[in-house]
Amino acid sequence: MLYYKKKERKNLNMITKFKSNVKNMGAFLIKFNWGSMNEGPGNYGISHLIEHCLCNKLKDLETDLKINGIKYNAWTSTENVVFHISGIDKNIKDFRIKFYNAVINYQITEDVFERERNIVIQELENMHSDQDSVFFENLNSKYFNLCSVGGLLSNLKNLTFNKFMEYKNRYYSIPDEIVLTSKYDLTEEEKAVLKTEDKLNLNKKYNFNKNGYNTFELIDGPVVENNRVVTYMVPFKSFKSDNYERFIYYKLFAVYMNDGLTSPLYYELREKHRYVYGVHSALNDIDDTNCAWYTTLKTLNENCEGAKKVMMECFEKEIKKPSIERFRTSIKSLKNSLKTDNYLSYFRINTKMEHIFKTIETYKFNFKKFKQYIKEFYNSEYILTDDISIKNGK
Ligand SMILES: [Zn+2]
Repeated sequence: MLYYKKKERKNLNMITKFKSNVKNMGAFLIKFNWGSMNEGPGNYGISHLIEHCLCNKLKDLETDLKINGIKYNAWTSTENVVFHISGIDKNIKDFRIKFYNAVINYQITEDVFERERNIVIQELENMHSDQDSVFFENLNSKYFNLCSVGGLLSNLKNLTFNKFMEYKNRYYSIPDEIVLTSKYDLTEEEKAVLKTEDKLNLNKKYNFNKNGYNTFELIDGPVVENNRVVTYMVPFKSFKSDNYERFIYYKLFAVYMNDGLTSPLYYELREKHRYVYGVHSALNDIDDTNCAWYTTLKTLNENCEGAKKVMMECFEKEIKKPSIERFRTSIKSLKNSLKTDNYLSYFRINTKMEHIFKTIETYKFNFKKFKQYIKEFYNSEYILTDDISIKNGK
């Protein structure tokens, strides 16, 4: 069961401080370590809805924030709900408590609840018009018993205001963490408002249902119907992400396979055989302990079998005899891709990803190790995902 009970707390657990990597710019984040992964049956989508509702009062601050060169936003992920302001550091310092109060002490009314519910339902429907996201959603649901941030339409539609408020008050009253990217420390008064006390780090543990098949329904939203173009996500490899080195070598391999038009997958599938019009390999973090490696093929229905065959041959060839030149350019590409993530990025607030990010930045990749890891990767078990229909018929 994904859903677990959070300990009741009276105080905020933790403040995390970062040095800004952009001069005179800063950020202030309010973070709840409670996201869509913690939702239970009947509640799928509730975190995202709470995020929307709690942003309501921020509209009153909008003009003031803008004048002071500050942006605000919020996001919901599988692990967190985060509200943040970023911009000119010395101005942010004057808005920290105003921002905190606007989010945390906001009283959600039933009207706001209804309005925002319609908005998140609309967002979910938009998401379901995209084949890739529907596919990934079904995949997560099937293999990881995991529902995405958007949740389930049926759950959102049946949610009552009372049930919503009960959940909100229970899990989103006191944030778990304040993340501060600033040269201005919190004042004593601010600390009193934020109720910071001990600085212990929560040791998150998710209990994943590993035994396979979905115990809850697949996505119940509308699904794109296009009988000519299909998205296949194959192969899909799932592995433990407790080994950073393995993780970054697999990540490098994803870049190796599809970075640039001359890369093996692009070349074979697109340029040479014209089987697909889109191919993409990626390594994703599913949660704290699981990763998934997959390739998505966008192709015509009738090309699908051929494309899969060529892809597998292509993998086999590259694993038997990888190119050292390509290995080198992939390292450059991978390192460059990290530079685009700024101090406010996902990497910085996710301890594990931050670690990986830093590891890759300075890592000395070794070709011999690369060959070993990709061999290991190739020999690990595939989860063939093409048996998951993108039309779930519910
Ligand atoms: Zn949204």
